[in-house]
Amino acid sequence: MEWFEWVFTREFRQYLLAHDLVFPLLFLIRLLGVTAIELIRPARKVEYSRVIVYDFAVFLLYQFIIFPIAGYIDLWIAVRPNLPDVVLNLPLPLRVTAYFVIADFGHYWIHWLMHTAPVWRIHKWHHVPTYMYWLAGVRATIPQQVIVNLPYIFAYSFLDLSPWWMYLAIGMFNALQNDWMHMNVAWRFKWLEWLIVTPRYHHIHHSNRPEHYTANLAALFTVWDRLFGTYVDPDKVSEPLSFGIGEKVPLPRLALGV
Ligand SMILES: [Zn+2]
Ligand SMILES: [Zn+2]
Repeated sequence: MEWFEWVFTREFRQYLLAHDLVFPLLFLIRLLGVTAIELIRPARKVEYSRVIVYDFAVFLLYQFIIFPIAGYIDLWIAVRPNLPDVVLNLPLPLRVTAYFVIADFGHYWIHWLMHTAPVWRIHKWHHVPTYMYWLAGVRATIPQQVIVNLPYIFAYSFLDLSPWWMYLAIGMFNALQNDWMHMNVAWRFKWLEWLIVTPRYHHIHHSNRPEHYTANLAALFTVWDRLFGTYVDPDKVSEPLSFGIGEKVPLPRLALGV
């Protein structure tokens, strides 16, 4: 058997799961694969060699400290309803759709809230990078992560009684969704924007022009922006865009959201 055939075997899958290697491997694929895709037709010039080491350190901080702590705090405050059997017996695709719609709707409003003056400080760190590429969106403070998790945990009830791989698929999807939104690609995907957020759509959200401060808040479905008046049509935005918060805040304050 060739090595690449072994990659598709049950043994390989079990080995990855048993050794907690799924997400490290996924990260390696993201690092090589997504960066390669960005190099084909980038939207803007990014000095990867300058930013990737720093962002990787932020990624480790996020992965091993921020995300677990936020999850621990959520254990105490998150609401996780017990849904009746009639809902749990609905076909899986229907429940997965309900999960994404409900979680994303909640995410939209929490994002909206974080762009209001009293709570902006806990989200500011996400908007610090002055460049956009797949790993630039990894910054989330503990309070941000705690409240963003809430609608996802709530909606996760729809996935009760799902096959074992569901939590894995959702975790991978979340990582890739964040990469996707921030990716440095010049593709337009206009047709796709009727349904979901694309890189250029989310880049406008990171723009440092005052008229874009609360533009395109959606994380997955663009319908929320259209419904609630935060939609900015990427076709009507002139390039070049520039990013960042335009102020110097010490890193510990940014990372803690204080
Ligand atoms: Zn934001
Ligand atoms: Zn972002």
